[in-house]
Amino acid sequence: MPEVTGRPRVLILGGTSEGRRLAAALASAAGTPYSVISSLAGRTSKPLEIAGDVRIGGFGGTRGLVDYLTAERIDAVVDATHPFAATMTRHAVDAAAQTRTPLLVLRRPGWVEEGGDDWRRVRDLTEAAALLPRLGDRVLLTTGRQGIADFARVEGAWFLSRSVEKPVPPMPRGLETVLDRGPFTLDGERRLFRERAINVLVTKDSGGPAPKLAAARELRIPVIVVDRPPIPPAPAVTTVEEAVEWLKTALPKVARR
Ligand code: NAP
Repeated sequence: MPEVTGRPRVLILGGTSEGRRLAAALASAAGTPYSVISSLAGRTSKPLEIAGDVRIGGFGGTRGLVDYLTAERIDAVVDATHPFAATMTRHAVDAAAQTRTPLLVLRRPGWVEEGGDDWRRVRDLTEAAALLPRLGDRVLLTTGRQGIADFARVEGAWFLSRSVEKPVPPMPRGLETVLDRGPFTLDGERRLFRERAINVLVTKDSGGPAPKLAAARELRIPVIVVDRPPIPPAPAVTTVEEAVEWLKTALPKVARR
């Protein structure tokens, strides 16, 4: 039920460190001027702690989100989902337009290739799987649990996957798994690459700190980088601080419903 304090109600679509940091920043803002609800899809069994209220589970498509925004009297939405959570972002943009709720996309910048990198950019995981056999046969897959199925049919390669939750079939034969949500260190990444004799890395262009990319550069290991899916046009920022500023300007304009 919506609370009746009159504080503007902000919905953060989360599942990322940015979403968590934004919730913390708003919860600790002087006078706590907002009522904050973070929304998680429910993909991880033990989500990290988040300041403010948390709801878990899908909304039921755009229609469900429209109903939620209306019933909960949400005044502003910050879509802080992962850059590859394109369906959620599309639904958020559509639902915000339909309910005339101000919406901001908070998305960390993508990675940029540096001297010494050996990157191949591909459009999606299917392309990554098709390219893989030409680049190496000892593969570190950091595409997340949901990105493993696309590699199930790749022959002649050994796979080590790293994800927060245990992968489920379909997956490559003989797949080994490291369960780890990070943060990772350059030393740790070097050690992993060396000890497991990794000769190719596959990653989505998630952005954010990535010592795995520095380790691959040092060890001259090729990297397949999956490009971000397109998202619909919407106001967007790349930092939590900018999102806090946006809320200050967006919310006074909101007529209380
Ligand atoms: P997605 O494909 O864009 O979304 C699929 C469905 O999951 C959505 O239609 C929605 O269900 C539900 N959903 C997604 N994010 C939600 C949220 N924050 N709150 C409530 N429902 C949500 O998303 P995804 O790629 O599976 O990612 C799921 C979650 O994991 C996201 O919150 C994302 O931030 C996080 N995450 C994703 C990745 C990645 O690589 N994709 C990596 C790290 C974290 P309904 O249609 O029923 O509303």
